[in-house]
Amino acid sequence: MLPVVAIVGRPNVGKSTLFNRLLGERQAIVHDISGVTRDRHYGESFWNDRDFTVIDTGGYLPGQSDAIVSGIRAQAEIAIREADVIVFVTDVQKGISREDDTVADLLRRQDKPVILAANKSDNSEKALDAPEFYKLGFNDLFPVSALSGSGTGELLDRLVELF
Ligand code: GDP
Ligand code: MG
Repeated sequence: MLPVVAIVGRPNVGKSTLFNRLLGERQAIVHDISGVTRDRHYGESFWNDRDFTVIDTGGYLPGQSDAIVSGIRAQAEIAIREADVIVFVTDVQKGISREDDTVADLLRRQDKPVILAANKSDNSEKALDAPEFYKLGFNDLFPVSALSGSGTGELLDRLVELF
């Protein structure tokens, strides 16, 4: 069994973009799993000679924010159970939201390592807002841009240390 990395966070922070970025050129093994887990996506990746599985979470029901929050919670709980390391994605351009707090509360209540990806840090000015997310209580924090790939190498260096 390869180490498992789960990507969690509220909708629209860039989880799927980061997932695709982490998979890089080795997308061949990506597959969707039907049935109850159809909202999740699995892929295999490697970095610094370490192979690992990545899980993307998401696919929340549109509509009421209560449904969104319980969807986030359910997805995060599954991911936490399966993961060896969790990547918690947030959006520096939006700041900390109530839904980020919901996810953070869940993650703090378990003992798996968490890396916070302060995503949408597209340039050095936007990256200045990343330290705000230390308030969520996780020490491993990386400003990244899933869109451009900037910062993701540093995140991956740390990630594979945690297996
Ligand atoms: P998810 O719902 O968390 O999976 O988020 P997605 O990966 O679907 O991305 C949501 C939106 O954010 C899309 O329009 C992405 O193009 C955009 N996005 C993702 N990563 C970045 C980033 O690093 N910078 C910017 N500016 N936009 C991003
Ligand atoms: Mg997604």
